[in-house]
Amino acid sequence: MPHALISGASIAGPALAHQLHTLGWRVTVVERAERLRDEGQNVDIRGTGREVVRRMGLEGALLGAGTGELGVRFLDGRGGTVAEFPAGEGDSDGMTAELEILRGELSRILYEATADSTDYRFGEQIADLVDHDDHVTATLASGEEIDADVVVVAEGTRSRTRDLVVPQADLVELGLYIAYLTIPRTADDDRWWRWMHTVGTRGVGLRPDNRGTTRAMLSFLSDVRGVEALDRESQVLLLRRTFADVGWETPRVLAALDDAPMYLDAVAQAKLDRWSSGRRVLLGDAAWSAGPFGTGTSLAFTGSWVLAGELADGTDVPAALRRYEQVMRPFVDRAQDVKPAMLRAMNPRTAAGHALRRGAFKVAAGVMDRFGGLLSRFSPAAAVIDLPTYRGLPAA
Ligand SMILES: Cc1cc2nc3c(=O)[nH]c(=O)nc-3n(C[C@H](O)[C@H](O)[C@H](O)COP(=O)(O)OP(=O)(O)OC[C@H]3O[C@@H](n4cnc5c(N)ncnc54)[C@H](O)[C@@H]3O)c2cc1C
Repeated sequence: MPHALISGASIAGPALAHQLHTLGWRVTVVERAERLRDEGQNVDIRGTGREVVRRMGLEGALLGAGTGELGVRFLDGRGGTVAEFPAGEGDSDGMTAELEILRGELSRILYEATADSTDYRFGEQIADLVDHDDHVTATLASGEEIDADVVVVAEGTRSRTRDLVVPQADLVELGLYIAYLTIPRTADDDRWWRWMHTVGTRGVGLRPDNRGTTRAMLSFLSDVRGVEALDRESQVLLLRRTFADVGWETPRVLAALDDAPMYLDAVAQAKLDRWSSGRRVLLGDAAWSAGPFGTGTSLAFTGSWVLAGELADGTDVPAALRRYEQVMRPFVDRAQDVKPAMLRAMNPRTAAGHALRRGAFKVAAGVMDRFGGLLSRFSPAAAVIDLPTYRGLPAA
């Protein structure tokens, strides 16, 4: 029975464990965190990613655990509504997707679906890899050695083990910081995603969840690098100073910063020349992070499907890893097509920029109202991948 060692137990790792188990592989997953991570906010599952979860038999469970968000309402600096976009219907439409779920819930469901068939090791990580003709030996941080036919690094955008697959891979920093928090729900919090933008490139969002709390988001553009690496106390100080003069519900979010579970991310893209080396391979954000623009989770599912399908029989692993890259590469290139100018237009610095932005959103909402699905043409790239059919994996 071929054996896969996967590093990272968020979305891509457990999804791949699921597909490989279906194909008869033995799977070990190591996760650096001591337990399954619960942080983060809503992620969308669209297009081909949605088709993958359908074929995995998990669509019903995921829809049942969805956030129930009704859509997104863009607000001006004082909290007045500029435009609103209802949630989409079907696999791909809408800024709020039909299948919108908390990242932690999604990870838990994937973990529970694979826990019996997969050897999960929490609080563990890969320290070194040595190649042999027909396998790789991984030395874990604990000193244990594990032999595997393939080693998959699914450790997210800031993966460290990535260097053991593709040395010195640089990230492209987009200059956008986003802090995701879980805060107490109040009576005014409805089932809409309310998203306010104001001068100085600052944004504040409030989103409903299905856990009796509210998910808050603070974002800003900056040329300063490394905020994500600061300790929590310094991040909180920086967020409080940066958002001190912002109105609407912002004081409430800032007040919650002391205790709220928080995850602060510097948005970056991984643009790598290759994703594999021999029997070592990257998957998910570790390979192709495109930023939190609605594609990461769908591409993680699709990538897990293609990687498992190409590996299916366990023979000639290096060739299978090259085929996986050939299938995924065009779609990843498309998902990564995020222009810095677009980020600046979405997060203006000046009042004049905000007036332009408000005008654009009003026009877009009017078009949506009149022409219905027209805007779905602009839905993210994850929606347009043709999912290959592989022997041993369920067909449509
Ligand atoms: C805590 C967290 C919160 C997130 N919140 C959001 C959000 O609100 N909105 C959004 O759009 N996207 C969010 N994301 C990113 C989103 O999950 C991914 O874009 C997407 O689902 C692809 O997932 P992935 O499994 O490739 O990578 P990730 O989801 O980034 O998961 C990587 C996993 O690898 C683990 N890991 C890292 N280094 C090592 C190591 N050396 N050894 C072993 N394990 C390691 C991490 O702990 C994590 O569990 C979040 C990710 C995380 C980890």
